[in-house]
Amino acid sequence: MTTRRRAIVFDLDDTLYPERRFVESAYRAVATWIAAHFGVSARATFLELVQLSESGDRGRVLDRWAEAHRPEESGLGQRLVQVYREPTPQIRPFPEVPALLLELRRCYRLGIVSDGLREVQERKIEALGIRAVVDAIALSDEWGRSAWKPDPKPFQIVLERLGSVSPSQAVYVADNPEKDFLGARRAGMDSIRVLRASGLHAHKPAASEAHGATAIVTDVGQIPTLLATWRWSGE
Ligand SMILES: [Mg+2]
Repeated sequence: MTTRRRAIVFDLDDTLYPERRFVESAYRAVATWIAAHFGVSARATFLELVQLSESGDRGRVLDRWAEAHRPEESGLGQRLVQVYREPTPQIRPFPEVPALLLELRRCYRLGIVSDGLREVQERKIEALGIRAVVDAIALSDEWGRSAWKPDPKPFQIVLERLGSVSPSQAVYVADNPEKDFLGARRAGMDSIRVLRASGLHAHKPAASEAHGATAIVTDVGQIPTLLATWRWSGE
């Protein structure tokens, strides 16, 4: 009996590639822009942006830089956010990912469910060269911010796009316990947490049982072994 009726669905950031690399490449582009416009050192600005991102709210780094250095320039924070989002991401998959996807493809349908601005996530998928390897993609931003994880909608859509795979026959592989596993669970899917020491969300505990994954691995290369003894429901 073929198992291609089952699906493995992956998150993108910090599951298939190191998100830190994306953040750094985007800050480099911002630092270059700032250096060109304000005549300051690109290197020093880059280091400052990285330090700001490590010392507080990552979502406000560019606003904080603008407020600290150019408080008189209204709208500068917004402009820096645009610069952050524009470049082609300088990212590559984790080393074990290409072979893993090719191996899993032989037995499973493969999907991606990812949050984030749609055009940015599209560029990441292009840069990683993985579009042709997976069977379906659902970027939650296609349905607006309200459909971001832990909303079940992107999971339901990816299963539909995979050819109406039953949620009980699909597993979500991801890294962020704030939203990933709860979202999958709301759609009826089990999940695997990839807990890499270097991951941006590695330090976060699951806030409740519902936020936790069904199983944990420390890199995605362990997934085929784990799936070999997976307890699929209905068996
Ligand atoms: Mg992630």
